Parts: sequence; C-alpha cells; structure tokens
Amino acid sequence: MKLHPEVRRRALLIDMDWRTHEPKQPRLIVSEGWRDSARQAQLWRQGRETAGKKVTNSPPGTSLHEYGLAVDFAFIDDARNKAVYDETPEGAARFDRLGLYIRKYGLEWGGDWPPINGKDRSDRPHAQAPGITWQQAKAGVEPVFPALPEPAEGVATC
Ligand SMILES: [Zn+2]
Repeated sequence: MKLHPEVRRRALLIDMDWRTHEPKQPRLIVSEGWRDSARQAQLWRQGRETAGKKVTNSPPGTSLHEYGLAVDFAFIDDARNKAVYDETPEGAARFDRLGLYIRKYGLEWGGDWPPINGKDRSDRPHAQAPGITWQQAKAGVEPVFPALPEPAEGVATC
C-alpha cells in the first residue's frame, strides 16, 4: 500500500501554501506517510517497551498511517539540516498555525483531537483523511474529501 493520492495531493498543497504565505517560517516536510504494521508496532513499543517517549496512541492495525490515509509533518531546521518536532511553546504555536492550513485543505488535524479521560491525545504534526475510522479503512471504505479551496486564497483571508 502507499499514500492515498488525495492525501498526498492535499499534503503537497498544504506545503505549497505554507511556503507561499509563511515565508518567515521554516519549511515543511512530510516526515511520515504510509507505514507498514511492523513500523507501527515499532512506534507503539517506543516509550512502552523500548526507550524514548511515547509517539503514538495507536496499536498496530489501528493507525490511519497503515492505510495510507495519514501524514505527519515536520519543520526543517536549516541550521541542523534536519526535520524537527519542536516541543517548545514556540514550536507548538507553529504547529497550531500549520493546523489552520491542514483544516483549510479538508484534512483532519491531530491538534484538534480532544482529551480522553483528561489525558491529552492531541497530535499536532498529524493530518489524516476526514471522517473515517481505521475499522472503515481496513474494510476498504473510501474516505470522502471536501472540495478544495480556491487556489489563491490564503489562510489569513479565509
Ligand atoms: Zn501521524
């Protein structure tokens, strides 16, 4: 499997729009797209069975990444020439800004996920096809995407 073409297309549009309207911000990259279940299992174990902090709330089989329906964004730190997930308040604010673009292009943004039982489960770098569960994706249900916005429209004018 690979990334759903409509998710890929919208991720590229988000990237282009970000570059156009946020010239002072760091550039974006898609750091994760489709994952196989082995990769999801590896991420699931991180912070549970292996070292590091938890990076996913989804056990293998239950992430939309495994169905080609999700992407994670990162910002490029030019000084270090690498993709970073900046967890400082400034970095979080940057992801919040990116969330406006993710919503604009009709993807569901992980930053909008509400807490469950008081536990924060937001995932700011994450964007996915809207309105579809992993169970539906597994059963082969096609996601329905909203119409795209007009090409020249910036977030600030929405
Ligand atoms: Zn993700």
